[in-house]
Formats: sequence, C-alpha cells, structure tokens
Amino acid sequence: MKVPNVLAIGGSDPSGGAGIQADVRTITALGAYACAAITLLTAQNNGAVTAVWKVPGRRVRAQLETLLAEVSVQAIKIGALGSRSTARVVAEVLEGLPELPVVLDPVHRASAGPGLLDRGARGVLLERLVPRATLLTPNLLEAASLTETGLPGDVAGMQECARRLLALGARAVLLKGGHLPPNEAGDVVDIYADSSRVEELRGTRIAGGPFHGSGCVLASAAAVALARGETPFRAALAARQVVRAGMEGAVSLQAGGGPRPLWPLARLEGGRYVDER
Ligand code: PLP
Repeated sequence: MKVPNVLAIGGSDPSGGAGIQADVRTITALGAYACAAITLLTAQNNGAVTAVWKVPGRRVRAQLETLLAEVSVQAIKIGALGSRSTARVVAEVLEGLPELPVVLDPVHRASAGPGLLDRGARGVLLERLVPRATLLTPNLLEAASLTETGLPGDVAGMQECARRLLALGARAVLLKGGHLPPNEAGDVVDIYADSSRVEELRGTRIAGGPFHGSGCVLASAAAVALARGETPFRAALAARQVVRAGMEGAVSLQAGGGPRPLWPLARLEGGRYVDER
C-alpha cells in the first residue's frame, strides 16, 4: 500500500508542541506523508502565547488550491482556523472533496490564553464544518461552546453533550474529558459517539502534565488512521494510544519550564503503542 497523504490545516507554533508543527511530526511518526497549510502564525513557547497573526482567507485559499491542484490527499485534519474568511475558504474547499475523511479539532483558544477562532468564524464552524466532520474532537470547553450548553460536569453530562454534538451533524464525536475534575479512580474519561454507539473510553491520568498540544496530536493521529481506511471508532482508539505514548514519552524532551509537549516516538513501533511497563 502506498504511503497516504494527510493534509493538516492550522496554525504555526514555533515551539513545536502544538499546531502544524505537532501535526506534521505526528503524521510523519505514524508513517504517513504530511502536507500543511497555515491559517495563522503565533509567537509562543510551551507556556505562553504572546501574539497571533491570522493569515487572510485568500492566502489560505491560495495555499490549498495550489496544493490540491497537484497532490491528492487521503484525509484532512483541521485545527485552529483564526478568521471567518479562512473558515469559509476551508468549508468551500471541502465542498469540492465530499468523500474525503475530515478530522475537525474545533480549536477555540490556546490553553495559554489567546483566542485562535474569531467570533464570526464560529457560525461557519457550526453550520458548514461540523456537519462535514468525519470525526469531531472537542474538549469540554469547545463542546460547551458548540452546543451552547453549560460545561459538562460528569460522565453522564459528557454523554449527553456528545449526543448533542452528533445532532449538529458530525458523523462521529470524540469528546475529550481531560478537563473534567479528577474522579476517585484517578482516570480520564473520553466519550466516543456515532449513530450506532456511545462509549466511555477510560484511561489512567498520566503524570507529568499539564501537556502542550495533546489535542493536535490526537486529531492528527486520528486523521492518519482515517486516511488508512479505518472506521472513526478505530481511529479514535488508535489516536488515544498515540496521545498516551506521547505523554509517557514527554519526559525524554528538553522542554522549558512550561507544559510539556508530547513525544510519541518514544513508545511507538511501526505506528503502534508499545507498553514497556
Ligand atoms: N497554538 C496553536 C497554533 C494551536 O493550534 C494550539 C492548539 O490547537 C495551541 C497553540 C495550544 O495548544 P495547547 O492548548 O495544548 O497548549
């Protein structure tokens, strides 16, 4: 089988932990070929985002049209979009690629603070991009914004929220529970939902956090799995393992004092998670 091409559309993080740099690294680590179109530039390190410059939509269009005129891609991962004009451009480009699997990470802001999605872009996200998502991967804050409900406070609330997100038109949802207050068992619960199942996916909370860029790694890994023809459910499971590998491998890095970036390569063999414990 040929190496799949996966296109990441998102923002630049010069520190490498999140954004396009994390996407390209994750896609490459999993043995796929990464293409990337940049929607915004940031000035940031692992702990702080000090500036955001949005790339005008027409320039994002030029990047995408030129790329796609020659290169066929087998999946697209969408991260930070920035402006309404860029969100519109991405929606239009996807209309021309109706069969292509899309992982949509509906990034609203960086954990370090600044917004990465204009207020006006939210409508485009809701009306045109969420319904086009093969797999939607919000955290709890993003899910609350998309569904216009309060923040889910427990696993039952997350299940309800995941159903609401499905009703917005995504084919499948992986609602990330990392922001839920820790439970007694000390585990983290994500909810996967599609038209045939709603599943609780549990894992032990990995020490060493907070982490930087885990959402980007998750969505990129899922896009690689979809590009290889996996179902959204299997893609979600595989992506969670890559994030786990990345968090466990983070100790190998010489990051600064801020949240640690992920390093999945330390625990992957042939793209699969290796449990050494
Ligand atoms: N910078 C860019 C360009 C991003 O896309 C993201 C997240 O999607 C971040 C920063 C923030 O990453 P985190 O909130 O994990 O630190």
